[in-house]
Amino acid sequence: MAADVLVIGAGVAGMKASLLLASSGRRVHLIENSSVIGGRLIRCEDIFPAMECATCMVSPMQQDVLRNDLINVVTLADILSIEGSIGDFRVRIRKQASCVDPVACIGCAECWNACPVEINNEFEENLSKRKAISVPCAGALPNVPWIDREHCLRWNGDENCSLCAEACVFAAVDYTEVDSEFEITVSDIILSTGYQPSPGDMIDKFQWGICTGVFTASEFERYYSSNGPTSGELITKDGRKPESAAIIVHAFGTGSHSSINTMYSLKFLHYLNEKLPDIRPIVFLDAEYEPVALEDRNHQKWLAAEADVVLCTQIPEVHTVGDSNNLSITCTTAEGSFQAEADLLVLGTSMQPSSGTSKFIKLLGIECSNDGFAAKPEPGLSSVITSVPGIYAAGCSGGPLDIASSVTEAAAAVGRVLSDTNRGGN
Ligand code: SF4
Ligand code: SF4
Repeated sequence: MAADVLVIGAGVAGMKASLLLASSGRRVHLIENSSVIGGRLIRCEDIFPAMECATCMVSPMQQDVLRNDLINVVTLADILSIEGSIGDFRVRIRKQASCVDPVACIGCAECWNACPVEINNEFEENLSKRKAISVPCAGALPNVPWIDREHCLRWNGDENCSLCAEACVFAAVDYTEVDSEFEITVSDIILSTGYQPSPGDMIDKFQWGICTGVFTASEFERYYSSNGPTSGELITKDGRKPESAAIIVHAFGTGSHSSINTMYSLKFLHYLNEKLPDIRPIVFLDAEYEPVALEDRNHQKWLAAEADVVLCTQIPEVHTVGDSNNLSITCTTAEGSFQAEADLLVLGTSMQPSSGTSKFIKLLGIECSNDGFAAKPEPGLSSVITSVPGIYAAGCSGGPLDIASSVTEAAAAVGRVLSDTNRGGN
């Protein structure tokens, strides 16, 4: 049998690559840092531009991955070292103990209902709370909780707490499980560690944290989602129904991939139109990138029909007006200055390399592009090749992509792995 393959990151590209490799008879180790598979897509309700149901697309794929005997899914995992070269990479992996037996657990929620510890839920952009034993959201797969030992009372001064174990009639909670390490040998590596949204520290200048109606793109995704903190109700963070709304498409600059970033931000206009049909939103668009946003005539018509579009020659400035619930948004345009008020503001994001992408670019010794993604030395020939033979970058690890292109790149990476095998690379 041909050698195993390592896929790092269980987002849509990593899952697709794993399934294709398995269908070719290759054994795959799919390594995921978090407790669930599905990547950023599982945080979304819909996929732009067709606004298809994200869960309907990703859930069957997650289940196929979890059921496939040739795919060894390792969640809560970290890669400690990678040595060797194409055909013989030796990879050392640490698996964090979940303290829950995935075979015995049925995901009934009794354990986290019993847990007294409440902490911010990072998966929900800290907009809701989670327990020290939890799954990130309803419908997460695998639907098996894990104990966060950083916050669990047993590891923080109250070793007698056993409320979750007492609540579990299936005896699935196991406090004695410890972290483990193991080594695998693989012929090739597919890096599918994805992106993370900006904005970092810059959100403060848009009154984020002061006005309860200011949302980052990631926050807004969760507020819109039916399994999110408000079950899909679009309200401000203090529970008010908005009366006016705006989107700043290039709030954090345009970056080098403005087309994807623009289209991603415009998805939020769909969200606003659907949930707040009485409001006509204002869309602040970078004038320089108007052709990108409006190159498709259907988008052009849709934008004009659904919103007031302001073409800015600078990133808009945002200030609070009166009480901190209202915002004044000002910018310059070719015709002069423009000002509008809104009590709900969505900040369009730009995609940056995820921490995993940055880490593995360094660990694997592959070259990176100016914007920090895995560099593609031969973009015209095959966009998945990196500077190191046997290591391929699929999906957003090589730069911002939409879902369809990420899936295409996953297939291209698998093609490369199989052709390495045929050439005797492993
Ligand atoms: S660990 Fe037990 S209580 Fe918790 S979800 Fe699993 S089966 Fe239910
Ligand atoms: S041991 Fe106690 S604090 Fe820790 S996860 Fe279980 S119920 Fe929560």
